[in-house]
Amino acid sequence: MHAKNHDLRRDLAALLIDIDGVLYTGNEPVPGAIEAVAALLERKIPHRYVSNSTRRSRTMVAERLRIMGFPIREEEIFTPAVAAARYLADQKKMRAIFVTTNDVIPDFASAGIIPVSDHVDAVIVGDADGSLTYDLLNTAFRAAMQGAQILALEKDRFWMDTNGLSLAAGPFVTALEYATGKNAIVIGKPSPTFFQLALSSMHVRAGETAMIGDDVHADISGAMQYGLRGILVRTGKFSADVLRQSGVKPTLILDAFPAVLDLFVDTSYHT
Ligand SMILES: [Mg+2]
Repeated sequence: MHAKNHDLRRDLAALLIDIDGVLYTGNEPVPGAIEAVAALLERKIPHRYVSNSTRRSRTMVAERLRIMGFPIREEEIFTPAVAAARYLADQKKMRAIFVTTNDVIPDFASAGIIPVSDHVDAVIVGDADGSLTYDLLNTAFRAAMQGAQILALEKDRFWMDTNGLSLAAGPFVTALEYATGKNAIVIGKPSPTFFQLALSSMHVRAGETAMIGDDVHADISGAMQYGLRGILVRTGKFSADVLRQSGVKPTLILDAFPAVLDLFVDTSYHT
């Protein structure tokens, strides 16, 4: 273990884990990732999953992981839709236009937020996949011009789908911002509120936690600005060119997620 890893290990107590591109890419688990999650549980290392995935409800994300063989409970997963529903309900903003897939709407419906076409409080933008049309984006634009708040579930540039790099919600959030001259409120990573939600649930501080992910902006830069250590993996959408152009200096770069286990002192030797 070289000096940098030694330094990184100091006071490291907990882990926030990105899902897509870290645990799996497309439909394939990253080799060793299922066993690594089991080891985190066995060694009682506090951890939570923070995903910027906005195509599916949290229940569907959990189900997909379970089918792949990951021992992960739904309550351990934080998604932007769940956080956004809480944010809107707190402000009594219950009427929304959804620039999303239909699959995430249940996360909002369970908080009482409903799809409407007039008197819109919020325009919710996620990765809408094939649901995205000019008409839908234009309807959202008109509502925002009349005063609806633009809520970005995430503002990522792209992600790695089964058939290649694909546009995330960011480009379409930016289109609405450009047209309206308004700024969106970003709910998912790198929003400090989103990281804090996951940290609070395990009663740990940012300074003793590392965020591991494949997105140099949302996962690494965002987490490091909030005082977490940022660990980039060379799986998923990782690209050496993107890393270089970003100017971001991750605390550590690992080939893949399972290597993260080496960063935690194995207390089982002492029992
Ligand atoms: Mg990812």
